[in-house]
Amino acid sequence: MRISLLGPPGAGKGTQAARAAARFGLAHLSTGAIFREEIGRGTPLGREIEGIVEAGLLVADETVDRVVFSRIGGPGGFVLDGYPRNIAQARSLDAFLADSVPIDGAVFLDVSEGEVLRRLGDRYTCPSCGPVRAPGGACPSCGRALERRADDEPEVIRRRFQEYHRVTGPLLSYYGPRLARIDGDAGVEEVWSRLEQAVMPWA
Ligand code: AMP
Repeated sequence: MRISLLGPPGAGKGTQAARAAARFGLAHLSTGAIFREEIGRGTPLGREIEGIVEAGLLVADETVDRVVFSRIGGPGGFVLDGYPRNIAQARSLDAFLADSVPIDGAVFLDVSEGEVLRRLGDRYTCPSCGPVRAPGGACPSCGRALERRADDEPEVIRRRFQEYHRVTGPLLSYYGPRLARIDGDAGVEEVWSRLEQAVMPWA
């Protein structure tokens, strides 16, 4: 199975992609996670994209394409999380896969703006325990001070949201019959069961 999860920031792409990867034995490729790791390690790529990612803007298509294509050259299945993000990237991906196994389809996690703002408002990371949902302050497990992703600050969330609707909306018609749309406002378990059903024909 080769799929992409589409949806605005906070739609739950990361959580659901990880589940799909475990359930169907797929490689999970999150461009956002790859970029954050490169930035954290201070690599040349990380230094090049740091300002863009922290401002909530999109990294240049050639850069993102290069990062993704270097990881999907083999014959295995995958779930893409955060890619493609616009029509140009979707076309490049189809062209890249033209000589191998094409993508089966894309799943759109349809989440309302109110729900996204509510979810991202309490998305924090503990330096020891990883991602936690908390109103801020201390980690409920170990008590360490929580950190927020620089691009989860409220005004950056709003910018990422506007950017998402401007460039990612048209992807829904690009995928046309290859698109499964899922109501993503529900809880993790409910959304997962909808997603699992939607992608079953591609398994
Ligand atoms: P995410 O974790 O998917 O919200 O991605 C975090 C940030 O990484 C985004 O705000 C962009 O700056 C960058 N990014 C991730 N995926 C892409 C992509 N497909 N195209 C351009 N920029 C991306």
